Amino acid sequence: MIKKSTVCPNCKMVGKLHKSHSKNRIERIVNHSYFLGTFRCQNCGWRGVLFRKNSLNFSFSSVLKAAFIFAVVYYIVLYLIKNYTN
Ligand SMILES: [Zn+2]
Repeated sequence: MIKKSTVCPNCKMVGKLHKSHSKNRIERIVNHSYFLGTFRCQNCGWRGVLFRKNSLNFSFSSVLKAAFIFAVVYYIVLYLIKNYTN
């Protein structure tokens, strides 16, 4: 897997962004979410919300979960159709 470095949206410096502590309730919710996190740039002092680096792993597992649920629903629907037509 390719290691992605977080790029600052303000100064475009690579590897200067660090996780920032949440200052208010909204930021706390953001930091507890799977996709987003509050970050701070050590180079220019930019502070904001970005997608987490590991959100790709989460979305991959959520795709697997969605595929599993879809497969289960698909077989239930097939079973129902089979019973209904007979
Ligand atoms: Zn910066």
